[in-house]
Amino acid sequence: MSCKIGFIGLGIMGKPMSKNLLKAGHSLVVHDIRPEPVEEVVAAGAESGASAKEVAARAEIIVTMLPDGPDVEQAILGPSGVLEGAKTGSIVVDMSSISPIVAQKVGAACAERGVEFLDAPVSGGEPKAIDATLAIMVGGNQEAFDKVLPVLKAMGASVTLTGPVGAGNVTKLANQIIVALNIAAMGEALTLATKAGVSPEVVFNAIKGGLAGSTVLNAKAPMVIARNFKPGFRIRLHHKDLRNALAAASSLNVPLPLTSLVQQELVALLNDWDHSGIVTFTERAAQVEIK
Ligand code: NAD
Repeated sequence: MSCKIGFIGLGIMGKPMSKNLLKAGHSLVVHDIRPEPVEEVVAAGAESGASAKEVAARAEIIVTMLPDGPDVEQAILGPSGVLEGAKTGSIVVDMSSISPIVAQKVGAACAERGVEFLDAPVSGGEPKAIDATLAIMVGGNQEAFDKVLPVLKAMGASVTLTGPVGAGNVTKLANQIIVALNIAAMGEALTLATKAGVSPEVVFNAIKGGLAGSTVLNAKAPMVIARNFKPGFRIRLHHKDLRNALAAASSLNVPLPLTSLVQQELVALLNDWDHSGIVTFTERAAQVEIK
């Protein structure tokens, strides 16, 4: 399907993702409330749209990559938003990580206007956004999924239809629980090792090939040991994901005691550091730095 793609939200993730669409030969119209990333993606070959409405009016597939549910609601349902400009039959693909309940609300509003909606959050962070190797988990109907698959494949290495609208974000919440709890466990383990006088680097290298080894450990332990907390993925955004996970779990009567504990650690840390900084909660209590 040869068509124009709209891209709204050019942050840490959206900027490299939109550039990969250009590299794959797609024609793009982009928008962000900040001018700097728009100028950068326009310099790489995109056109710019003055509002989400204008982007939608000029595109057949509209991708959004925004921080949280309220931002997605504003950009799609709000004044000068996507639905004011979208043509009947166009497809909105929200790649932000938001509450599955908000995804279903936005999907229903799109359907009322004859616009298809898919929720398609991603995993892999900035490095995989740059390499176009994200894992993309999609909720929506098969026909819309098939139409946007070539576009999603230009940004990701794996693209999976997980169920109806909302299922993509349920899958992403599962992912975020596992990642947050892994980082917290790594923080406790390496804080203990450091305070006991054993080098955290030696511990990391000794255990990474065993059962405790993981993608999270390989990505985050070297950052922590180098005291590099530049995002990456902001603690503030991971807090949002665990908050959404706890709300969804509560509505389904599912207890998540470990998630709730780590979410409380994030409340104490709310900032724009990379989420590897979750380890500082235990470090501060133990008065030692993993390095
Ligand atoms: P970010 O804060 O770097 O970027 C968000 C962008 O959206 C910013 O450029 C901001 O100016 C723009 N924006 C906000 N409201 C807008 C609006 N109404 N209209 C137009 N633009 C608007 O965030 P990010 O790290 O790129 O994350 C985006 C989403 O992807 C989040 O839901 C996050 O949880 C998810 N995610 C992030 C990572 C990561 O490693 N950073 C990994 C996987 C998923």
